Amino acid sequence: MADLAHASPSTTGILVANAARHALVRARAAIARGAPAPGHAYLLTEAAAELERLTSPSLRSVINATGVILHTNLGRAPVSAAAAAAMASLASTYSNLEFDLTTGDRGSRASHLRQLLRDVTGAEDGLAVNNNASALLLCLSALASGRDVVVSRGQAVEIGGGFRIPDVLKQSGARLVEVGTTNRTYVTDYETAIGPTTALLLRVHPSNFRVEGFVASVGIAELVELASVAGVRAVDDVGSGLVLDAVPFGLREEPRVQTSVGAGADIVCFSGDKLLGGPQAGLIVGKKDAIDLIRRHPLARAVRIDKASLAGLEATLQHYHRGEATSHIPVWRMIGAPVEALESRARAVAVAVGTERVRASATRATIGGGSLPQQTLASFGLEIGPGDVGNGRSVGLDARRLRLGSPPIVARIEHNALILDFRTIFPEDDLAVVAAIRSIL
Ligand SMILES: *Cc1c(COP(=O)(O)O)cnc(C)c1O
Repeated sequence: MADLAHASPSTTGILVANAARHALVRARAAIARGAPAPGHAYLLTEAAAELERLTSPSLRSVINATGVILHTNLGRAPVSAAAAAAMASLASTYSNLEFDLTTGDRGSRASHLRQLLRDVTGAEDGLAVNNNASALLLCLSALASGRDVVVSRGQAVEIGGGFRIPDVLKQSGARLVEVGTTNRTYVTDYETAIGPTTALLLRVHPSNFRVEGFVASVGIAELVELASVAGVRAVDDVGSGLVLDAVPFGLREEPRVQTSVGAGADIVCFSGDKLLGGPQAGLIVGKKDAIDLIRRHPLARAVRIDKASLAGLEATLQHYHRGEATSHIPVWRMIGAPVEALESRARAVAVAVGTERVRASATRATIGGGSLPQQTLASFGLEIGPGDVGNGRSVGLDARRLRLGSPPIVARIEHNALILDFRTIFPEDDLAVVAAIRSIL
C-alpha cells in the first residue's frame, strides 16, 4: 500500500474516499452489464489498488523482461551505478555547470566533456546536446542552411517516432539532394550531384533496418575523400554510438564512432542512450572549425543538455576512458552475459516458483533501440503457458497482471506463451520476479 505517512489527515481522507468511490462506480457499472454483485473483500482490494494508483508517481521503474536491451518505450539504456550516482548528486546541488572555479568567471557547459570526448573518440573537439535528433538538426542548421546536402536515397530514412531525415533537413533550412537508388549508390552519384551550392555530404546509418542482396553504398572513408576534393564537409550520423568492438560479443561489425572520426569525417553524431549506454543525449564530435560553428549557432542554446544528463554522460565516458565499459555499463554487461549464467538463473527462478506451468526455456534476445537490426543473442528465460482455458486464465491477462504488479514487469508474448527473458532482467531482481509470478498464478 502507498506510504501515506507524510500526507495530512484530511488529504488522506479525501484520497481514501475517492478510491472507494471509484471502486463502487466500477462495481455498479459491472452489475449494470449483468455481472454478479461483488463481495466486500473484492471491493476493498479494488479500492486499495486505486489508492495505490492515486498516490504513486506516474513515471516508475519497471523490470524489463522483454529481452530487448535498448527498449525505447522502457527508457532505452539503464545507466551505470556511477553515472546514476553522479546524476543524483548533481541534480540536488548547485554546481560549476557554467562557472569557472579557478577564475571565478562565467564558464562553459561544453567544457566539461571536451577532453573526455577527444580521448574516447579521437576527435579534435566535441559537445553534447539533448539527443541525437537535435544533434543532427543543429549540425545541419549550422553547416548547411540555405545550401545543399547530398544524401543517398537508401539513407533518406525514418529513424522512428516520426524522425525522418528529409523532414529534419527541411527544418534546418538545407536542401536535400538525393542521389543513387534505394539499394545502390556509388561514388559517381555523389560526384555528379556536387555543385557550387553543396554544403556537405551526409551519411546516415540506417540503424533500424537492413537492405540485403543487390546493394552498394559508399563507405565513410570514400565519402570523406570525395568531400575534401570538392571542398565540402562530410557528416556522419552513426546513430547508436558504438565505441566498443561488437564482434567479440558475437555481433556483426557495425560502424564505430572512432572509425568515422579516424576516416576524417568533419562531424560524427550519435546517441548517448543507445549502445554508448549512458543518459539521453546527442554527442557531436569532429573537426574543431565545424564544432565551433555548431557551438555558436542559436539552436545550440535551444537543444542544450541538462546538468544531470551531463554528469551521467561524463561518468559513462569515464568508463570507456578507464577501459571498464564492458564490466560497468549495464547495456554491455547484458550483451556480454554468458547464456549459461542466464540459464542457471532462469532454472533457479523456475524451481523457486515451483509450478509446472512455468518452465525455463531457450530464447533469443535483441539489441533494439534501432541498433544492430535483425541480430539476436542466444538467451534464456521463463515460459509461462496459458494453462487450462477453463479456469478463465489467458496469457494476455497474465501479462497484464505482471505489468500492474509492484514493481511492474514487462514480458513478451510469443506463440501463446508469456516469455520472461533473463538477458534484460537485472540479477538483483530475480527474487522480485519469483514473488510476482507466484502472486499471479
Ligand atoms: C536513433 C537515431 C537517431 C535519433 O537519436 P535520438 O538520440 O533518439 O534522438 C538519429 N539518427 C540515427 C541514425 C539513429 O539511429
